[in-house]
Amino acid sequence: MKRFVLPPDCQGEGEITLSGKDFHYLCRVRRLKGGDSVPAMLADGRRFVLVLTEKGTNTCRARVEPEPEESRENQSRPEEIAPIELYQAVPKGRVFDDVVRRCVEAGVTRIVPVYTEFTVGGAARDTAERQRREERLQRVARSAAEQCGAVRLPEIAQAIELSQIPSFDSNTEAAFFLHQEPLAEWSLHRYLEASIRKVVLAVGPEGGFSQRELRLLEHKGFRPVYLGPQVLRTENAAFFAVAAIRVLLLERESWTTRKK
Ligand code: SAH
Repeated sequence: MKRFVLPPDCQGEGEITLSGKDFHYLCRVRRLKGGDSVPAMLADGRRFVLVLTEKGTNTCRARVEPEPEESRENQSRPEEIAPIELYQAVPKGRVFDDVVRRCVEAGVTRIVPVYTEFTVGGAARDTAERQRREERLQRVARSAAEQCGAVRLPEIAQAIELSQIPSFDSNTEAAFFLHQEPLAEWSLHRYLEASIRKVVLAVGPEGGFSQRELRLLEHKGFRPVYLGPQVLRTENAAFFAVAAIRVLLLERESWTTRKK
């Protein structure tokens, strides 16, 4: 783990009590003793140091302290690229865990589960089941963020139906949907050439988007992106596209200036 993500009830500096998985990780897995510390952060990316002060049998106390000046200077600067949001059609079983794990590592900043026409497993539309699944995905996101040293904790939003997907303004936001057949001439480079505030990506389920859904997405300002002739599994398509977009954004200056 690169950086421990502090629990949601923690506001910043001060004393906190940790239990459950947090206690297990810090005291059993990392075997921290009184006075030991680990790098920590709040979900929004603010960085601290967590110092263990007291170790009990099932809980521990710790102090959240400001990060020392010198380690702040050694840090890589926060990325200055547009945030990448993923609207992911809910896949079968535990496949969503893989999507979250991989896409968090690839730098996604928000994931919204979406129910579509060809989503398998209608039972999950039930509210209690949905909530259980969302909590699970939040845990997966947190551990992926901790493991890769993400700049902040990506948000797992409440699931929506595809018809509730918001509209995006193509002047300031780049919204895409992935489709396994070429629907437009434009390349990702061309879409990302203009300076944008946010990138939004919609990925279909195992059965793909229906024709009606493709029209709806276009109507909401999404533009089609094709990733080549191989038909990818939904979890691979999401990872592939997030990774490609992130590299293009990180290297944007080099490829936009070189062209001129
Ligand atoms: N069942 C469909 C494939 C669905 S693939 C078929 O056989 O045609 C699942 C999702 O992954 C798709 O909805 C799309 O969003 C994405 N996807 C898979 N391969 C892709 C590709 N080559 N280009 C763009 N998107 C792709």
